[in-house]
Amino acid sequence: MSEKKGRVFSGIRPTGRAHLGNYLGAFKNYVALQDDYECVYCIVDLHALTTVEDTLNLKQNTYDLTLDLLAVGIRPEETILFVQSHVPQVTELHTMLSMVTPIGKLTDLPTFKEKVRQNPNNVNYGLVGYPVLMTADIVLYKSDLVPVGIDQAPHLEFARETVRSFNYRYSANVLIEPQMKNTEVLKVLGIDGKEKMGKSLDNHIELAADPDATRLRVMQMVTDPQRMKRTDPGNPDVCNVYTMHKTFTPEEDVQTINAECRKAGIGCVDCKKRFAENLNKALEPFRSKRAELAARPDQVHSVLEDGAKRARRIAEKTMLEVRAAVQLP
Ligand code: SF4
Repeated sequence: MSEKKGRVFSGIRPTGRAHLGNYLGAFKNYVALQDDYECVYCIVDLHALTTVEDTLNLKQNTYDLTLDLLAVGIRPEETILFVQSHVPQVTELHTMLSMVTPIGKLTDLPTFKEKVRQNPNNVNYGLVGYPVLMTADIVLYKSDLVPVGIDQAPHLEFARETVRSFNYRYSANVLIEPQMKNTEVLKVLGIDGKEKMGKSLDNHIELAADPDATRLRVMQMVTDPQRMKRTDPGNPDVCNVYTMHKTFTPEEDVQTINAECRKAGIGCVDCKKRFAENLNKALEPFRSKRAELAARPDQVHSVLEDGAKRARRIAEKTMLEVRAAVQLP
């Protein structure tokens, strides 16, 4: 382990090209964590198998996500970036952990109930065991910390309890109880201004889209719903465009927009044009880096191969200890 403060693990679902919600809600933080922690970022393709829609185009989606992660600033020379299924030890650990997991605990988790509501016709065994596989992901790499928002806290607590059960049952201190790295996970609203930004709702703004496509998406954004005409004063506090301005527009301009909006000094069309311009400017370095990487696919694949090699080294060491603790013949 390096002189950094500890090891952070996070799993990222390969749902294809990333959007602004992914960036602001997670990737930005992943990049920042690299300065202080040894980071292990895993593209969780096995988790994607639990829902059919994520299984389609899994290879392409994994590749696109890798491009996005590298282009936003994940540094593979220090961070371990890899694909979950490239380290098969995780499925072995998943089996071992499932033996110390009461089934009722899994079916009681709010996320499981939510998934059942969303996919009543596809409640498969993998879906029930999802948190066990997630626990295996975290503990296989001896992770100290997992950056999660408050809504993910029950899953981490589950992981901690599972580790305790395993260590108790086998009278071993092999697995590390991961700690929660409390992270303010921004809830980024989609262009509808109501729901969380996501692909399934088609309310997202893709990071890698070209400037024209991005502008078009921004111009579709819902603003203050009470503002019916140009001469009506608006309320920036309830406007998603304004919220986005706060991230992508210089502070001084944000204040001007706030004041002008309240006295109908600026119209929503102009306000959105300004936001689109600032957003495109901010995304420019990302887009050119992504294009550079896309021109060298071999290099992108070798990042994942190297990541898997480094991840397997840690995983195999953990599994030697786990197998010894379980006393497998
Ligand atoms: Fe929102 Fe800007 Fe329109 Fe005000 S002027 S309601 S901040 S888009």
